[in-house]
Amino acid sequence: MLTKVIDQSKIDHISRWLGHAEKIVIIAHVSPDGDAIGSSLGLWHYLNGRGKTVNVIVPNAFPDFLKWMPGSKEILLYDRYRDFADRLIAEADLVCCLDFNALNRIETIAGSVRNATAKKLLLDHHLYPESFCDITVSHPAISSTSELVFRLICRLGGYDDITREAAECIYTGMMTDTGGFTYNSNNREIYFIISELLAKGIDKDDIYRKVYNTYSESRLRLMGYVLTQMQVYPDCRAAMISLTKREQSQFSYIRGDSEGFVNIPLSIKNVVLSCFLREDTERPLIKVSLRSVGSFPCNQLATEFFGGGGHLNASGGEFHGTIDQAKAQLERALAKFKPLLTAKG
Ligand code: 5GP
Ligand code: MN
Repeated sequence: MLTKVIDQSKIDHISRWLGHAEKIVIIAHVSPDGDAIGSSLGLWHYLNGRGKTVNVIVPNAFPDFLKWMPGSKEILLYDRYRDFADRLIAEADLVCCLDFNALNRIETIAGSVRNATAKKLLLDHHLYPESFCDITVSHPAISSTSELVFRLICRLGGYDDITREAAECIYTGMMTDTGGFTYNSNNREIYFIISELLAKGIDKDDIYRKVYNTYSESRLRLMGYVLTQMQVYPDCRAAMISLTKREQSQFSYIRGDSEGFVNIPLSIKNVVLSCFLREDTERPLIKVSLRSVGSFPCNQLATEFFGGGGHLNASGGEFHGTIDQAKAQLERALAKFKPLLTAKG
């Protein structure tokens, strides 16, 4: 049995909305990851099964290693089909916002969602949700939005209607947001849910291979290159890797190729913070990714030094300037956070 994480009053409310809603739009965050796509498609399959007209809209493209997911071809990219997507949002009865906590995380779609007359539901697990929805289902202690989708569907009495396709999407989101169940994954109910998803016929080993073992040769060489260039700050128990646009083109970089790189320096003994600085190819800025182990709040560092945020152990932000300036900014952050980084425990 699962703990009833979502308030019953919210379940009742959502259930009533779903009774009436015909046109539903599901929106996830910019540069969608496995959880953004997995949770959106999981919910999409379920609502389709209930006979709704449902569309998933995301701000921009998602990585190739998620394109095997059932339903992924139906996802609308806002940067390509803006007018059509705007019409769907304006005409929707219900807009479901998945895996983000603030309108700026959907960038170009934000205005349309703000102006939509539809009922709005937020289903998310990031800290400090902004109040832009009629119902906010926000559970930072839950390790993925996909897990929340599973919990929501079950509470709506829909477990039997979860298909193998929906289960595959939900599992993918749960797996990717926990690094293959290697962090944020000690809640035993996660494994109860996985057991239920296996009962739906998913092949979890195959999903792992499709997500993590389908990269190009050049991606593996890029990983090797980035790691040889890595900078370690033993005094601060931190490490940094970086990637310029020039290096990206040397290794025929495509979107998603650096997925997971930021976690690798954490495999060094005593390193508790890893930072990845990547020159964005679309916008003139440096994308910053941070990961930590244990109690070090990398989201605080992201907020204070890179105008971002996120979770305790996984956060990110942006930097306007060159890679070298971003490195200098990181080093200032390390100096400030050194006492916390080197604290025992
Ligand atoms: P990633 O490193 O995978 O891009 O992001 C990890 C987490 O950091 C995301 O799930 C999100 O919570 C947070 N994050 C990443 N980039 C930003 C950003 O620019 N702003 C904010 N507020 N959070 C971010
Ligand atoms: Mn997530």
